[in-house]
Amino acid sequence: MELHQKTIHEVSADLKAKKISSVELTKAVLAHLEKVEPKVQSFITKTPDEALAAAAEADKRLASGQNLTPFTGVPIAIKDLLCAKGVRTTCGSKMLENFKPPYDATVVDRLNQAGAVSVGKTNMDEFAMGSSTETSAYQKTRNPWNLACVPGGSSGGSATSVSADQAFASLGSDTGGSIRQPAALCGLVGLKPTYGRVSRYGLIAFASSLDQIGPFTKDVEDCALMLSAIAGHDRKDSTSAPVAVPDYLAEMKKSIKGLKVGIPKEFFPAGLNPEVGDAVKKAISELEKQGAEIHEVSLPTSPYGLAAYYVLAPSEASSNLARYDGVRYGLRVPGENIVEMYSKTRAAGFGSEVKRRIMLGTYALSSGYYDAYYLKALKVRRLIKQDYDKAFEKVDVIATPTAPNPAFKFGEKTGDPLSMYLEDIFTVSINITGMPGLSVPCGLSKTGLPIGLQLIGKSFDESTLLRTAYAYEQATEWHKLKPTLKDS
Ligand code: GLN
Repeated sequence: MELHQKTIHEVSADLKAKKISSVELTKAVLAHLEKVEPKVQSFITKTPDEALAAAAEADKRLASGQNLTPFTGVPIAIKDLLCAKGVRTTCGSKMLENFKPPYDATVVDRLNQAGAVSVGKTNMDEFAMGSSTETSAYQKTRNPWNLACVPGGSSGGSATSVSADQAFASLGSDTGGSIRQPAALCGLVGLKPTYGRVSRYGLIAFASSLDQIGPFTKDVEDCALMLSAIAGHDRKDSTSAPVAVPDYLAEMKKSIKGLKVGIPKEFFPAGLNPEVGDAVKKAISELEKQGAEIHEVSLPTSPYGLAAYYVLAPSEASSNLARYDGVRYGLRVPGENIVEMYSKTRAAGFGSEVKRRIMLGTYALSSGYYDAYYLKALKVRRLIKQDYDKAFEKVDVIATPTAPNPAFKFGEKTGDPLSMYLEDIFTVSINITGMPGLSVPCGLSKTGLPIGLQLIGKSFDESTLLRTAYAYEQATEWHKLKPTLKDS
């Protein structure tokens, strides 16, 4: 196995045993990154010089043997909506083409403190709005399993950077599925932690009550390591929760004997892609083989999740994106007067999906429609949460497909926004409830495209998700498969 193909826990052991230095490792990863980047296009901004400087620092730390973490000297990648001090942070938009934040996001700071080496900022749908990374103002990121297909979105570049071994792990954000769906489509482990588990300070906001930051990794153990590094209260984010962070690595290794797994029938509709349905059902049988008890549960209001999400998320976005007015930062297009300057700036800076969301959200929030749309969606949100709470009285974890289909071709859904929005059917309700969700690889389609199993947990119970996913991974080989990087 080549160096860049290893996991964090493997290379971290090599670094600590002094089999390799961080500078050597980082050089090897950067060389591979450059080699495959023309095919996959994961990065909006690469930071090789900063990476080598951080690696040299990590080597000093490794030589001293002090203050070492599983990340010391390990190359990772960061979604381009997380602020990194002095590094261009575009959010996939022309609006922020030249924006260099004066501070680090808390998650970026925590990984820096742990000694991680960032190799760059990854491509994404503009302002994280999309399910295929096609709304990026910069480039098309391609799925390493089939370059003719999308990687999913919105964190597509974060997913492909790990899937194509350009980084050992990456950070993404998930507002309606943007970590779990690309993880499923690219054959990775992806975790959306509980709302409040991870600080959002320094995350460029899309929909503040739904956004959460989480990792993409090659296996469950690395996912537990990443979560341990970024989780925990942060006084800079008043929505981050002062809840103790468990020892995820120890929790992950516990047995799943007697674990109660709920299967919601609403997530297996008659029209479900049969390859996805079969792979997920097989994965559930595997959990049963290992001693889990399978129970049917019902989430009757979950089919309304998508409609509620596409009112709530655009409403919050229309408010959050009002700040891009050409005055304080980002793009400015001059005009005759201030109103013309605002409108010219927003017309030129935002792409069409972002404009569509701003219009939808402004409409839903406007007086006269507020009660009919926004308030109604909030009520649906409460009902969905009640359904999940009721289900979790009976079971410890819920298992479903992550995405309704494997990766699709470029352009297949861009002409019809509703068909793109349907990609999120199984993921959005977890953001609506704030609960944690994890996607773990559970199969391949006949054409060789990855399929993901979604595990949903009680709030702040990421431990049970990691434990279930780890038990499953131990019994299967899916996480060991590597993409072909071919156009087929
Ligand atoms: N695909 C969903 C959307 O377009 C979710 C995006 C996300 O999670 N950031 O809104």
